[in-house]
Amino acid sequence: MDDQAPEDGVKVAGISPTSAVRTDSRLTTHGQCGKSWIQRGNRTGHCSGCHETFEGLAVFDAHRYTNDAGQRACRNPADVKVGGEHLEMVEGTWRGPRMPESEKERRRAAA
Ligand SMILES: [Zn+2]
Ligand SMILES: [Zn+2]
Repeated sequence: MDDQAPEDGVKVAGISPTSAVRTDSRLTTHGQCGKSWIQRGNRTGHCSGCHETFEGLAVFDAHRYTNDAGQRACRNPADVKVGGEHLEMVEGTWRGPRMPESEKERRRAAA
């Protein structure tokens, strides 16, 4: 008599472990570090120094600084603040506050 585990018979339709992996066509992977992120035009920047990904130039710039030796270096994104708020890690990308005042004003002007 076969001693089959009862769990083998239980299958949830449509759900498989691989469904958790994003297959977005905008997904970009950096071969050097193997990290993937969603590329949004030229807004998204992957740092070749610390291999973190940032949304927006202001956020990217905020994590770069000049160290005591006068060299450009990277901060830990978790310690970086933009507009007085900590960066947020969303889908593999560091983001600043949802909409800075300057961005709001620019959109108002463009409308
Ligand atoms: Zn960096
Ligand atoms: Zn990288």
